[in-house]
Amino acid sequence: MLSQRDQQVIWHPFTQMQTASLPIAIVKGEGTYLFDENGKKYIDAISSWWVNLHGHAHPYIVEKISEQLKKLEHVIFAGFTHEPAIALAEGLLKQLPGNQSKIFYSDNGSTAVEVAIKMAFQYWYNKEKPRTKIIAFKDAYHGDTFGAMSVGGRNAFSAPFSPFLFDVIHIDIPVKGKEKETIAQLKTAINTNEVAAFIFEPLVLGSAGMIMYEPEILNELLKLCKQKNVLCIADEVMTGFGRTGKFFATDYIEEKPDIFCLSKGITGGFMAMGVTACTQEIYNAFLSDDKMKTFFHGHSYTANPLACAAGVASLELLATPPLIPPQRGGKCYEPWENIKMIGLLHKNFELEIKNHPLVKDVRQRGTILAIELETSENTSYFNSLRDKLYTYYIEQGILLRPLGNIVYVLPPYCISKSDLNCIYKVIEQSLLKS
Ligand SMILES: *Cc1c(COP(=O)(O)O)cnc(C)c1O
Repeated sequence: MLSQRDQQVIWHPFTQMQTASLPIAIVKGEGTYLFDENGKKYIDAISSWWVNLHGHAHPYIVEKISEQLKKLEHVIFAGFTHEPAIALAEGLLKQLPGNQSKIFYSDNGSTAVEVAIKMAFQYWYNKEKPRTKIIAFKDAYHGDTFGAMSVGGRNAFSAPFSPFLFDVIHIDIPVKGKEKETIAQLKTAINTNEVAAFIFEPLVLGSAGMIMYEPEILNELLKLCKQKNVLCIADEVMTGFGRTGKFFATDYIEEKPDIFCLSKGITGGFMAMGVTACTQEIYNAFLSDDKMKTFFHGHSYTANPLACAAGVASLELLATPPLIPPQRGGKCYEPWENIKMIGLLHKNFELEIKNHPLVKDVRQRGTILAIELETSENTSYFNSLRDKLYTYYIEQGILLRPLGNIVYVLPPYCISKSDLNCIYKVIEQSLLKS
């Protein structure tokens, strides 16, 4: 059994190894489904931690990675370049707003955020007007490395490290009814003229429990930041690539961020990749005869050609009009049609479930649906309801991973109506049990 061999040698992420049940060994993925070593099939209702867009083992991405694999698996990215890196940068810049002009590669969401923070601080340093503060939302999640943890909300996960995290000005999430408070807090913070940047998850704060707020208020916050030359960093690691119904969540607003952090869906969920995109203005601040103005940052696997090839293939699948012919995996799958369909079905289910006595709140944006359950316990991630629900869903053959008392659905775009209905039905049944 793979599960037992695993237990001898592996330490899993976000897992209390003493009490965790044996991990489920997956031997095959296909479209929306995962298959374990006993042949049991699961619907992947959370896109394998929010990374998968077009389904597992999508034939077109498989083909593109294997073509690249036969040509060049990896090469140092300082002093060297390659076609997939250039093609992906070109493709991303086509989708990003017009103010974006350069792509900096790394290898995951946390590093994309680290790079963004370092770019922002060094931008001001290079201009010899150092600014030392960052604004972020309370309860934000930007990754698990130290810089990313520092700008994230302070909670039980970061507690052991709190003495080592740098100071950040945390403002309230501008959820409905709280917008004025957030505006006031932002204004106070930026009036000091010490703020280098404002980092935010646009419209949906994922790990916080799929907390949502409206585009209008985000636009307002960015407008205020721009008046004070505070750099705006959109962490679109989770929200990018169609997740919220538009290509980027910030496509819902008029003001444009200065820096974008991308990862997760960027390769369709096939390879590890992080991207930090920035404006020409930021890039220019690092151009100098003075070597000390260089951006000294890089990772061994920066711009890995296989990851870039996967990224290009995934962008091609997202292209409108569709580029990929049916016989190469484009069949019956038009991601933007599906994204719309998922949004509509989510909305219908929201209406159906929102008056259920155990349901405290239902939120939806694009392909993301979150159902917050009533609970007598504290509403943290460590809520015992969470474990009961998780186990029940797995038994029913559905991979759903509630965040505390918040059950959310965030499926690959290739999911069928009947699989979505199956997920909704199991969620409804779980309410009877909890
Ligand atoms: C997941 C996530 C990250 C971190 O990405 P990793 O690849 O897991 O390091 C950063 N920001 C947001 C908004 C995320 O959802």
